[in-house]
Amino acid sequence: MAKKGRLQKKKGFVSIVGAGPGDPKLLTLRAKEVLEEADAVVYDYLVHPKILRHAEHAEQIYVGKKGGDPDSTPQKSIESLLVKLAREGKRVVRLKGGDPFVFGRGGEEALWLARHRVPFEISPGITAGIAAPAYAGIPVTHRKLASEVTLITAHEDPSKKGSDLNWNALAKLKGTLVLYMGVKALPQVVDLLIRYGRKRKTPVSVIRWGTTGEQRTVTGTLATIVQKVEEAKLQAPAITVIGEVNRLRRKLAWFSAEGRIRPNSGGEEKPLFGKTILVTRSRKQASELADELENLGARVLELPTIEVSPIRDFHSLDRAVKNIRKYYWLVFTSENGVEAFFKRFRELGKDTRTLSSLKIAAVGPGTKAKLNAFSIEPDLVPKVFTTEGLVRAFQGLKIARKKFLLLRTNIAPDFLNRSLKKLGAQVTEISVYRTEKPAGLEHRVAELVRQYPIDYVTFTSSSTAQHFFEALKNGRHIEAKVISIGPVTSKTILAFGAKVDREAKVSTIPGLIEAVLKEARS
Ligand code: SAH
Repeated sequence: MAKKGRLQKKKGFVSIVGAGPGDPKLLTLRAKEVLEEADAVVYDYLVHPKILRHAEHAEQIYVGKKGGDPDSTPQKSIESLLVKLAREGKRVVRLKGGDPFVFGRGGEEALWLARHRVPFEISPGITAGIAAPAYAGIPVTHRKLASEVTLITAHEDPSKKGSDLNWNALAKLKGTLVLYMGVKALPQVVDLLIRYGRKRKTPVSVIRWGTTGEQRTVTGTLATIVQKVEEAKLQAPAITVIGEVNRLRRKLAWFSAEGRIRPNSGGEEKPLFGKTILVTRSRKQASELADELENLGARVLELPTIEVSPIRDFHSLDRAVKNIRKYYWLVFTSENGVEAFFKRFRELGKDTRTLSSLKIAAVGPGTKAKLNAFSIEPDLVPKVFTTEGLVRAFQGLKIARKKFLLLRTNIAPDFLNRSLKKLGAQVTEISVYRTEKPAGLEHRVAELVRQYPIDYVTFTSSSTAQHFFEALKNGRHIEAKVISIGPVTSKTILAFGAKVDREAKVSTIPGLIEAVLKEARS
């Protein structure tokens, strides 16, 4: 019976995959491919959220392990989880920072899979011990300076008896030593190397968050590095490079993120270096904002707190479209509204020339641009890009008894509707798309806030703020600075007992970015 059951199932499979050192673009093509095909992804601390985007439809399970974190998932339960998922017939990706076989316990997990006869493959990644130095302008080997490189893990107390490492031998090597997980143990490592004869003036670099917008490098010698790291308050995750190759950094430092610590070094100075910013827009809309913030040097985390989906019942919309000529004003307050309306319009076989007698209003430039994409030039865009601005613009026009059609989301606040009615208009409001809360948002919010030191959280609409704070539960305690796109969004944020640190002067994405820049300068 059991045998039959197993035969009927799809065969599960585990890919143990390296996610690369930090920059999500340093992922291999093979890794991207298996992520796209995955049913489940089991991922670690240090895996960039952008990489998980390749596995959008997969179940995503975080089992992060941060040095000494008591909440870490124990290794054995990760291994059992992999076997369990594979036995359910799933294509599982076990995603690890850097390379899975370099201090990543990938070997242990593969052994466990082999023992349980779960088929697997290994997909190597670029390891931090090579990539972080490269981004700091340090080649780990060089024909004249280092003919060998040794990768070392120094997470346990290296001076303790029974340590596997032979520091006497390591100190005598002439090449490069690369330490993983070594920030806490650095003082002992330095003592041991000096004690066993490595020169005190040997150059050393410690590189934190290598290859990312957060990269910071502290340089010194065996004699000075401990104090320098302390002064710079540099913490994990960092790679330490010991050896003559460090001398090349002076000439080879090329990565512009380093502009922050060496502002006059020719590296471009970007205003948001060192800032981690959370973008809460829907996945589809996030990229414009996220890309621009990244271009300005920020590390961007995307956490979609809204999901845009089609309406379920087209009855009212279809009737409105059929009788569209009876309206005087069509009002759009979002790009999504424009898109959803014209999609249905097209599906019903309508021609935009039917709209020629109507007046069309757009709340702001984004909505206007979307209308332009359908070759429509709105008759009205208010000076202030908010629903209040829209109402004010209509106050100056004769709208009494005019028929209005508002094409918005299912959760649009009724302020616009009410205000237009007060001005004497006859208002019909129809939901053309739905705004929903993504499943499992609570869990993702908690995880992100726990994993990353977030400097700024951005909100581009009232609904993004509402879902975020509902999921966070204790909004009052958020440490990040809160940046809002405009007054309606700010009102929602304040209602959760959180503060608004800055509100965009102009309620657009460029306006929001301007607010972030101002906050960074303050
Ligand atoms: N398998 C990983 C290493 C995991 S051990 C790899 O191949 O890169 C975790 C350690 O890797 C961290 O403590 C830190 O020393 C190093 N590390 C990982 N990512 C890093 C990064 N972006 N910058 C600096 N060090 C990093």
